[in-house]
Amino acid sequence: PLVLGIETSCDETGIGIVRGRTLLANAIASSMDEHARFGGVIPEIAARAHLESMTPTIERALADAGVTLDEVDAIAVTGGPGLAGALMVGVSAAKALAVSLDKPLYAVNHLVGHVGADLLHGDGLRPAVGTVGELELPTVALLVSGGHTSLLLVRDLVGDVELLGETIDDAAGEAFDKVARLLGLPYPGGPHIDRVAAEGDTQAIRFPRGLTLPKDMAKHRYDFSFSGLKTSVARWVEKRVAAGEDVPVADVAASFREAVVDVLLTKALAACADLGVPRLLLGGGVVANARLREVAAERSAAAGVELRVPPLSLCTDNGAMIASLGAQLVAAGHAPSSLSFGADSTLPVTDIQL
Ligand code: ATP
Ligand code: MG
Ligand code: FE
Repeated sequence: PLVLGIETSCDETGIGIVRGRTLLANAIASSMDEHARFGGVIPEIAARAHLESMTPTIERALADAGVTLDEVDAIAVTGGPGLAGALMVGVSAAKALAVSLDKPLYAVNHLVGHVGADLLHGDGLRPAVGTVGELELPTVALLVSGGHTSLLLVRDLVGDVELLGETIDDAAGEAFDKVARLLGLPYPGGPHIDRVAAEGDTQAIRFPRGLTLPKDMAKHRYDFSFSGLKTSVARWVEKRVAAGEDVPVADVAASFREAVVDVLLTKALAACADLGVPRLLLGGGVVANARLREVAAERSAAAGVELRVPPLSLCTDNGAMIASLGAQLVAAGHAPSSLSFGADSTLPVTDIQL
């Protein structure tokens, strides 16, 4: 089926068009620049930007795909989780399109969409790391972004997704953004930490690995915590400054990044081992982190786990992944969503469709 997907859960207005598993277009407009001076995504600004970008981004996607709206078989939209006002813009646009075109509408889960991204193939699309070929299930999936840090067990993309664990405080991307800020680096901080860390020593400072002590592992084996790490970096920097010493920014960035990467992969690979699932999929904007991809490749190989990382353009928030999940629902014969559904900012990952 030819499916148009709409994503507006955070700061990206994403319009994707797929035919089954073939990617035809992935148009994105981001409001990140407008949030930068506030040091974080401002929900009201994001919602207004989605409204302004919606029509031009849909038009761009249709032009890129070389199709017309009449040819589209179904509309898919992110129903949640995400920012309520931002989601509502996408949901309203999707309902308007579905009603005016008389096409079925599928409201889907944003997090499961990140996994659906891995199904897509198309001209010039290459995985960022790892295997080319079909996604095999079950797989463990680690989703890491500015808003989420979730470990999933995916048995069936449109029928059976289990939440193994998630962050109990900050998301991994949020930790990057906060630590960047205290090191005086611009927002969003991830790419800047990555750049600065390349010159630093990953072993210079031993920052804490949240929820990895035996007593924590007993209760929170697959959960994450990054707020203690952020505080630890802040205290370390404060002490240096108080002592009148220079802050070795590259070493702090490299050591911090190492701690995040270590915890993420320790827990993800523990899940693979515990559950006997020799497959790990990465998704979300933090996958742009060079060290995360490098250590993931090393440790997965050592553990006999097949690592899959979709192209980075499909790891950050986008409409193609939503269209992909929609196409899977259509192909599996799922009923469309009723037009009365509303955006659900806290939609659990087990609810694949609204
Ligand atoms: P959501 O959580 O709803 O998916 P989001 O907009 O926060 O939305 P993304 O756009 O997928 O998520 O990712 C943005 C996050 O990824 C930011 O926190 C950013 O700092 C982080 N990030 C981007 N590049 C890197 C990098 N190279 N290293 C680490 N983190 C990065
Ligand atoms: Mg984003
Ligand atoms: Fe996302």
